[in-house]
Amino acid sequence: MKLQVNDIRNWMNLSNQLIQENKSYLTELDQAIGDSDHGINMARGFQEVITKIQDQSYSTPSDMLKDVAMTLMSKVGGAAGPLYGTAFLKLSMAWKNKSEIQVNDIKDGLQAGLDGIKQRGKATSGEKTMIDVWDPVVQLFSENDITDPSLIEETAKQAMNNTKDLKATKGRASYFKEKSIDNIDPGSASSYYIFSALSTSLQG
Ligand code: ADP
Ligand code: MG
Ligand code: MG
Repeated sequence: MKLQVNDIRNWMNLSNQLIQENKSYLTELDQAIGDSDHGINMARGFQEVITKIQDQSYSTPSDMLKDVAMTLMSKVGGAAGPLYGTAFLKLSMAWKNKSEIQVNDIKDGLQAGLDGIKQRGKATSGEKTMIDVWDPVVQLFSENDITDPSLIEETAKQAMNNTKDLKATKGRASYFKEKSIDNIDPGSASSYYIFSALSTSLQG
């Protein structure tokens, strides 16, 4: 189980596919506890990512992910753009100069990404944000010797669903106070798609 430049391209393509397919759903989630733009933001940003990376040749996954990060940062907008931008930039930095990413590198990279999101958003676990998906996935890598990538997808999905029970204390959803409960956090859903895509690209 390892990732090379083409696997990262595949990961981004699959992420984009899932986000485009679920654009309306993401927007619906953001309609309940936000401003109805998460699907639009993510679909625009990921489409730009694909346009940016599709025909370029990169010598390392890190180089590609730097472009991914910069594109997300400038094209997604909202709260999610800088947060995903930071996460992918941290991934890129963690994997600098490596041509092949091993399971241990994935663990370290995702940990760095999670730390970046927490820092940038001044948020922590349990606040009903994308962190509540990133955290359990990072924990999965820390606590297990991952041989079956489908565990990543399962963990992320469960974590996304668990955000339903949480009360939002960060971002726009926090304005809804108690009323934010019983809704899935939009950023948790987009993070689920990204991890689901990672899971699939690791199976290839
Ligand atoms: P906006 O709220 O600016 O319209 P989006 O709708 O694109 O931005 O993204 C909202 C998502 O961003 C939320 O569902 C949540 O997961 C995530 N989010 C918002 N604020 C924070 C934060 N401070 N830390 C981590 N994630 C956050
Ligand atoms: Mg929004
Ligand atoms: Mg917005």
